[in-house]
Amino acid sequence: MTTAITQARDRLAAVRDTMDRAARLTGRSADAITLIAVSKTQETDAIRPLIEAGQRVFGENRVQEAQAKWPALRQEYPDIRLHLVGQLQSNKAADAVALFDVIHSLDRPSLLTALAKAMDADGRRVPCYIQVNIGAEEQKGGCAIADVPALIAAAREADVPLLGLMCVPPAEGEPAPYFALLAKMAREEGLERLSMGMSGDFETAIMLGASDIRVGTALFGARPYP
Ligand SMILES: *Cc1c(COP(=O)(O)O)cnc(C)c1O
Repeated sequence: MTTAITQARDRLAAVRDTMDRAARLTGRSADAITLIAVSKTQETDAIRPLIEAGQRVFGENRVQEAQAKWPALRQEYPDIRLHLVGQLQSNKAADAVALFDVIHSLDRPSLLTALAKAMDADGRRVPCYIQVNIGAEEQKGGCAIADVPALIAAAREADVPLLGLMCVPPAEGEPAPYFALLAKMAREEGLERLSMGMSGDFETAIMLGASDIRVGTALFGARPYP
């Protein structure tokens, strides 16, 4: 157990160091950047050492998996904040609104309608990011670039709070141009935050303006299953 905590501390410190360096290079403060520890597929036993090392913001990509893992941990650590970083089916919108503090995957009008309805029913507004299919990849989730302005307008109309834009760039090639494009789109739409950057590219993402980075492998090691 002690070694698990030591390892979690070391990994967290290494990620924080990289965040600091990237922020400093671009005249920003790393304090303004939220580190989301993406704990998908990780068992509670693997998550706990990171909590004990001080991490409080976590991300999951499946509603059902998060429902199974987090309520008990949150009773122990009430200051934990939970982000949904994976695709969301409309029929799970109510469960997502009940469980998560932030949703990063709003990407279509039908989901917006479902989320708005769930927020009205719960009397709770959950801030969202609009996920953009920044590389125009066929198989990938996210709103098409051309449809983003209309979805933003619809979210504002439905009183669904928007924090900013989120993307997962194509796995192949340089992520930087995609991060820069997402930053430009957010600026043009008057949105402040950018959820971008994962274990392999969060340093680049921060230099291009990320406010929220979503890091799994660099904090937990390789995932037990895909
Ligand atoms: C899994 C996942 C991450 C974390 O990926 P790592 O490469 O392990 O850091 C970030 N964002 C999303 C949307 C993910 O699904």
